[in-house]
Amino acid sequence: MSINGKVALVTGASRGIGRAIAIELAREGVLVAINYRTNEDEAKKTLEEIKALGGNGVLLQGDVSSYDECKSMIQDITNILGKIDILVNNAGVSKVGLFMDMDIKEIDSLMSTNLKGVINLTHAALPHMVGKKSGTIINISSIWGNVGASCEVIYSTSKGGINLFTKSLAKEMALSGIRINAIAPGVIDTEMNNFLSNEEKECLKEEIPMGCFGKGKDIADAVVFLCSNKSKYITGQVLTIDGGFI
Ligand code: NAD
Repeated sequence: MSINGKVALVTGASRGIGRAIAIELAREGVLVAINYRTNEDEAKKTLEEIKALGGNGVLLQGDVSSYDECKSMIQDITNILGKIDILVNNAGVSKVGLFMDMDIKEIDSLMSTNLKGVINLTHAALPHMVGKKSGTIINISSIWGNVGASCEVIYSTSKGGINLFTKSLAKEMALSGIRINAIAPGVIDTEMNNFLSNEEKECLKEEIPMGCFGKGKDIADAVVFLCSNKSKYITGQVLTIDGGFI
């Protein structure tokens, strides 16, 4: 896939979709910086799985909602691993409930992680990519960023922001050799959806034409493609992966 030997940072890689992305990139020979915010033990499990495949990586603690922490994460990667070729902005949080019932602090916190987090790390990483005129950034959005969701208004807003950030920045950076794309997953079987009861999960599956939830690997396989030369003419796109849901 032509990404062997590249260096990637995957945010929120201690579990779920981020862990799957880190593992699939490592399977292709990418050296992965596994970002986690608090759960070092789970991040270590991601690294163990990578090592079991014959790959390698490093653990990198940091909160994406802090610009200072993002700057020092990028500094650490370039100091320790020498460069950054791939940035996967995956970390995110969700909050289900009526917009009017949300506390303004909850709104700030969600926007700071989901949207500002993507902006923070991208801003910190880009100078290192511009210098060598190459790089790939993948932002993990959501189908709700495409069409909006009731009871997930701020989450949808943050993901819609990611979509336009992706499209705009891709145009700005294209001549610098940097490609920026987003992936909009539908319902993926991770801990993020643990708030749903089994009965609710079964009802939701019935609404999905393919009749099942996606797996983290379904998203990770697309990340590998979007980082590789097989997608070298693709930039500024939001790829929806949802089993035909939307
Ligand atoms: P998850 O809750 O299992 O994982 C999210 C990860 O992000 C966790 O490891 C968490 O610690 C990390 N994180 C949260 N805030 C952070 C911060 N401030 N700094 C660093 N790390 C932070 O969820 P997931 O399903 O794996 O979701 C991954 C991404 O995919 C998210 O952006 C989510 O919005 C998106 N997504 C998920 C689904 C789904 O159905 N699971 C659907 C569409 C989009």
